[in-house]
Amino acid sequence: MAIQWFPGHMHLTRKAIEERIKDIDVVIEMLDARLPGSSANPLLAELTGHKPALKVINKQDLADPTRTPLWLDWYNAKLETHAIALDASDAAPARKLIEGCRKLAPTRTGLAKPMRVLICGIPNVGKSTLINTLSDKRQAKTGDEAGVTKVEQRIVLADDFYLWDTPGMLWPRIVVDQSGDRLAASGAVGRNAYDEESVVLDLLAYLKLHYGAQLSERYKLGLEAAEIGALHDDEVLEKIARKRGAVMPGGKLNLQKASEIVLTDFRSGVLGRISLETPAEYEGWLAEAAIKEEARALKKAEMDKRKKRKAPSRERPRTPE
Ligand code: GDP
Repeated sequence: MAIQWFPGHMHLTRKAIEERIKDIDVVIEMLDARLPGSSANPLLAELTGHKPALKVINKQDLADPTRTPLWLDWYNAKLETHAIALDASDAAPARKLIEGCRKLAPTRTGLAKPMRVLICGIPNVGKSTLINTLSDKRQAKTGDEAGVTKVEQRIVLADDFYLWDTPGMLWPRIVVDQSGDRLAASGAVGRNAYDEESVVLDLLAYLKLHYGAQLSERYKLGLEAAEIGALHDDEVLEKIARKRGAVMPGGKLNLQKASEIVLTDFRSGVLGRISLETPAEYEGWLAEAAIKEEARALKKAEMDKRKKRKAPSRERPRTPE
């Protein structure tokens, strides 16, 4: 299902980033390690131009440990980009951020040329958790910065290293259809924007093929991974509902309740360490989206041309002399 997601305005965030970006040396974008492509916001690249970027692939404790390195390589291969993996249990997040930024802007050291960094990320990516950890450890100087917004926060990670937090919301932007359900499953999209059952059916469509053993183990399905992979998505959800006693009076399965169970289990990590996309898959989706977009643009141009041909001439009819 392609999720329809039209979040509220982002004026505050956009304005704050635009104002702050002039004095920024490195932009940190936090990504969800379970969906490091879908959780990136391309608006950020538009707003920050060619500033060096540190991609923090966060919540790595929830992600497939064989896939996170693929994403690190993928991001590291990009120009002016460095990527690190992190999670809330990390004992030295500040050191990792500082080292990552220094790789990108090595000349920004010392009090005369302090490193100035902006940190951004879509909701639920773990930004507040990280900022709180950084703030507690450093007795952060936080407060208002004149001329920007009241809620902009500055954290001093070292005498010559300043980190600014973006105020407002950097909402997810759905570039490829496949990202919508993934963002919803991860918890980044507002609850009212999606239908839990259809998000879970899409999630199961992926999990049954790539993480069948985890599904079988968690829900005691008693099936081999290959057997689960051969089931229809609905059948997987029905089996989970039955095993979990999600049954209504009269014996009808309560698929809504089963969907909530699966979502909670996925989000909390009890389903196991799972990633919903690989760089290769994501690149394929991007390519598909580009082809679709091109077809849409062509169709629109064709329609515009036809409309123009049909439209009556605006020239005034000539009056006979
Ligand atoms: P924000 O919206 O980006 O500020 O995200 P929060 O910091 O509020 O985190 C969203 C949820 O993710 C909270 O329930 C956090 O406890 C949880 N969380 C944050 N960081 C991590 C992490 O590294 N690993 C795991 N497993 N959960 C995390």
